[in-house]
Amino acid sequence: MTNLLWLQGGACSGNTMSFLNAEEPTVCDLVTDFGINVLWHPSLGTELGDNVQRLLWDCISGRVSLDVLVFEGSVVNAPNGTGEWNRFANRPMKSWLADLAQVANYVVAVGDCATWGGIPAMEPNPSESQGLQFLKREQGGLLGEEFRSKSGVPVINIPGCPAHPDWITQILVAIATGRIGDITFDELNRPQTFFKSFTQTGCTRNIHFAYKASAAEFGQRKGCLFYDLGCRGPMTHSSCNRILWNRVSSKTRVGMPCLGCTEPEFPFYDLKPGTVFKTQTVMGVPKESPPGVNKIDYVLLSIVSKDVAPGWAEEDFFTV
Ligand code: SF4
Ligand code: SF4
Repeated sequence: MTNLLWLQGGACSGNTMSFLNAEEPTVCDLVTDFGINVLWHPSLGTELGDNVQRLLWDCISGRVSLDVLVFEGSVVNAPNGTGEWNRFANRPMKSWLADLAQVANYVVAVGDCATWGGIPAMEPNPSESQGLQFLKREQGGLLGEEFRSKSGVPVINIPGCPAHPDWITQILVAIATGRIGDITFDELNRPQTFFKSFTQTGCTRNIHFAYKASAAEFGQRKGCLFYDLGCRGPMTHSSCNRILWNRVSSKTRVGMPCLGCTEPEFPFYDLKPGTVFKTQTVMGVPKESPPGVNKIDYVLLSIVSKDVAPGWAEEDFFTV
């Protein structure tokens, strides 16, 4: 049996919604097939008031063993580092987290807010939000750069706004079945299984990207969303086009540019207002080219690609 406790800080509950919609495996599968015992969850827990408090203290004292601590939402430190703006069960949430993280075998941060502060940590950050072990791309967060859970690993970061349901449940299964040691992590503590490749991998518009055939409007059934609509698919680490949402689709498949929500810089608020869905260019060349691509080569390649694009590269690929 794997005891799991899920707490929520400065959050919109989007990751809980995502979690409850998981399909492979489902939340029920976690309980019935993988032996995960949900000690408490904000939407599923039946204990209230004193009983929740007692459970949390029992975990801290070791009376109840805590295998997995999952956190959703930002760590709120306001006002002035006290965390009083986010009280839970008679204490600042950050105090519970600091104590519980010391006794948990694994600590999992779900969603951008818990991983690196997310939207609440945008400047001017009035809630003094941060993630469990990062603030944006900077290591540290509430628990500090050196933090390791009892099993010897740092916080496992599953970013996204929200995180894909199956990323969450599959990592929990890996922990419950003892296979988490087989998974490698990147420098941001993201499991490479889901975050090694780019969103562009598996995108149905790749051929349009190659031939520089651009989509000019949202929802357009042809054309790549990179050249005019600011798609961050080539710069974002995620498996959204490999492990489809609701098992059927993804943003780019329906003509919505990738917003880069699995990267610490999301939501890219340094862009000028009104330019999020507009590719930033210098003399017609996108300011950000896909990683590893030399700018001059990119310009040359673009000219050639456009010239040799076959007629079908401009066709609506949903037409039958
Ligand atoms: S739509 Fe986005 S992810 Fe798809 S090919 Fe174009 S840039 Fe890449
Ligand atoms: S397509 Fe991009 S913005 Fe959308 S969920 Fe995936 S990584 Fe996030």
